[in-house]
Parts: sequence; C-alpha cells; structure tokens
Amino acid sequence: MSKYAVLYSEKIKEYDLGHVLTQDRYQNFIDLFQEKLGSHPDFDIIAPPSATDDDLKLIHTQEYIQRIDQLRGLDPFDTPLSPGLVRAAKLLAGAGKLAGELVYSGEYQKAFVVGGGVQHATRSREKGFGVFSDIGICAENLKRNFGVTRILMIDTDAHAGEGLYEIFATDSQVLFISLHQDPRTLYPGKGFIHEIGRDEGEGYSINIPLPPQSGARVYELALQKIFVPLAEEFQPQIILMVDGSDPHYTDRITRMGLTLAGIRMVGNIISCKADELCGGKMVDFIGSGYSSNPQIVSLGWLASIAGVTGVDLEVSEPQPIPPEFQSDYGLAEVQKVVEVIRKQLSPYWRCFSN
Ligand SMILES: [Zn+2]
Repeated sequence: MSKYAVLYSEKIKEYDLGHVLTQDRYQNFIDLFQEKLGSHPDFDIIAPPSATDDDLKLIHTQEYIQRIDQLRGLDPFDTPLSPGLVRAAKLLAGAGKLAGELVYSGEYQKAFVVGGGVQHATRSREKGFGVFSDIGICAENLKRNFGVTRILMIDTDAHAGEGLYEIFATDSQVLFISLHQDPRTLYPGKGFIHEIGRDEGEGYSINIPLPPQSGARVYELALQKIFVPLAEEFQPQIILMVDGSDPHYTDRITRMGLTLAGIRMVGNIISCKADELCGGKMVDFIGSGYSSNPQIVSLGWLASIAGVTGVDLEVSEPQPIPPEFQSDYGLAEVQKVVEVIRKQLSPYWRCFSN
C-alpha cells in the first residue's frame, strides 16, 4: 500500500495570475515529480474534487462565497478574481479537505496538496492571491466531522500566515505557529511576536519573525526551541504544514536565506515530530515560490516532499550558492527573539516555564 498521497489536478493550472504565479509552475513540478518519484511505490497521485459550498462554509461566510461566485469585478486590494482562478481556488479547497480525510482515516500516512497553502485569505475576504482557505477548511472539517481536538498548524512560508492567524486566533484546538520574514520588511506587515491569539485561543498562536537572509541554522534553532517543545506538550493528532519554495535565497519577492537542503531539513524536523507524536499524520501544503530561476520553485517543492517523507532522493542546487547564504546569518538576533517568545508564552505552556 502506498504511504503518501500527492493531490494534484491538471485544472490547478487555471490558478494563473499572469506574473509570478504562472501556470508553468504546476506543469514543471509535476514533470519533475514524475521523473524523480513517478514510479516510486510509496506515492500515489490523486485528483481532488472541487469544494462544494458546504465545504467552503466550514470557514467562509455565505455572503463571501456568493460575492466570489458573482465575481463582482476586481478585488480593490490585490487578488484578481478571474473565473479560472475561482475554479482553481475551489479545487485547492477540495484538495485540502480530502487530504486531511485521507490522512486522518489512515488511508495514507501523509499527503501533499500541490499548489496549496492559502495563508492570507480570511473568512470573509480574498487576499494575497488566496481566495478559499484550503488549510483552514482541512482543519475545520477534521474538528467538526472527525472529532479532532488538537491540530498543530505550522507555516514556514516566508510570508506571515496572517489570514490563518485571524481565522484561528480564538481557537485553542488549533495551535498555530508561523515562522516568517520580519513583517517590517515584507507583505503582509503582520505576524509580530505579540500576536499570540485572543480569548480562548490566547497563547495558541505563535508568530516567529526572522531577519531577512536567515539561513538554515536560524530555522533549525527556532524549530528546536519553540516548535518541538510546544508540539510535545500539545500532543497533536495531526500536523498541517504550509510550505513552499519562497524561503529560498533566490526568491524575487522575499529575502530569506534557505537553500534546497535547508527547505528539506525544515520539512524533516516537522515530519519527525509527526512520526513521534501522531503516527506520522501530516498534510503538507506546498505552493509558494517566485525564484528568478524557475527550476528552483519545483525543486523546492520536491525538497519539501523529500524532507517530509525521508525518501532517498538527491535534490541538488542547480547553481552555486553564494557564500553569504552558507552562513549562520541572523543566528544571534534570533536567539534573542526565541527567548522573548518563550518568556512571553510561559504563562500558557509548561515547557517554557523555566
Ligand atoms: Zn509566501
């Protein structure tokens, strides 16, 4: 029996905004995946269904769903609502829901949502090229229809997942951790350390801003000092991850310093905790990446899959890594940030109380 489901449909190519999010990215990735892992017995490619209105209502308001369906012109902010993009967004939402079910039911140990990881959209507004919250729908479906009460959501995309933060800020059944480029230097300008959730969910949201150019040692430190102890105390029943290629040092939109090996390591640390704490149950949403070298977007997604599954596969950097990205850049600053976050969260978590 295969262990890993890769949710992918040709129709996702309609998620084409004509610039950084071009349709080539999906075809390029699936071509690379087929070449490297297409005949591997542990992987199945599964075409997801579109989300129904009832699926979307797990997170979004009726009014919002109707507004999107009616396509009332362009978003005044930043997300053009072409019919193709809306169809693709429903497909991603359907993929997120199905991925959670396949993993939680035990049919597959882990699942990957190709093109997924909508992290900026909220319950009632499209944002940052995201329309329907695939990961939010995945989580809410597991809570409501499968009785799951402890979901760990970790977002390592270079942008802060402020839409996800907003959706789950008052929810103590979802522990949300976001590692991202310092919001003073990048869209969406949110995700500061004082944003820790509110009401019932206070202490269940953790924002970890990292300085531009942060390298692998910085991510490793933040994960080992914050993610690992929190995961051990929270004891998740499943881990959902927002992942992708935009923390890579060649990215045109962001300025982080991970290499492909770094992206792989991040996925591996998180996956090892899933193996240890929740029978390996994990869904990885891989969608970001705007590198000046288009190969890097696909290679980053493949590196994520390699890290999360531990599959024996070489994923090598297509170009030499400049020396400034091979360093521990940002480590001293992040050691301080980590200590402040641990102290701030100590009233909520025993693991940070000493
Ligand atoms: Zn991003």
